[in-house]
Amino acid sequence: MRLLIAALALAVGVDPTGVWPLLPAPEVVRAFDPPAEPWGPGHRGVDLDGRVGQPVRSALPGRVVFVGRIAGRGVVVVSHGSTRTTYEPITARVEKGDVVSAGTTIGALDLAGSHCLPRACLHWGWIEGDTYLDPLRLVGLRPIRLLPLWQSAIIGLPKPRVTLADVLAGRPAAVGPW
Ligand SMILES: [Zn+2]
Repeated sequence: MRLLIAALALAVGVDPTGVWPLLPAPEVVRAFDPPAEPWGPGHRGVDLDGRVGQPVRSALPGRVVFVGRIAGRGVVVVSHGSTRTTYEPITARVEKGDVVSAGTTIGALDLAGSHCLPRACLHWGWIEGDTYLDPLRLVGLRPIRLLPLWQSAIIGLPKPRVTLADVLAGRPAAVGPW
């Protein structure tokens, strides 16, 4: 069945199926809000509620292409071919060039640089070229997709705590104080 789904996904160009970077499936405390212009205001990913030191996992299989600090935050970037996922703030447990699977631990969640201070949270991004995408699409929360629940049920993904309607409406009040 998984092979069938994978073939179907390729055929119709749907998003790759990834895993949540945090376990158990985290609460989304701030939604994706892509900037209208490259340097404009916005939120270039989603913030996932977590705790300091919690393992952070690669959402998709790929290769680590960046490990370092940006503006004081520890950042790991994993390439998946045409797209990249980003994870911050974390203390890396991988090195540039490492090959990872979906679910491989790539680091531990930090507090410094959290978008959710005083709480810890993971800022998770997904980028294609220079375009920021909504990483929740990787875990079946898809704004314009067919049968996300059907797919979640079959593959056994954790049930998201944010409803599709919340994501569609960009309704941060529904998922946190922001
Ligand atoms: Zn953020």
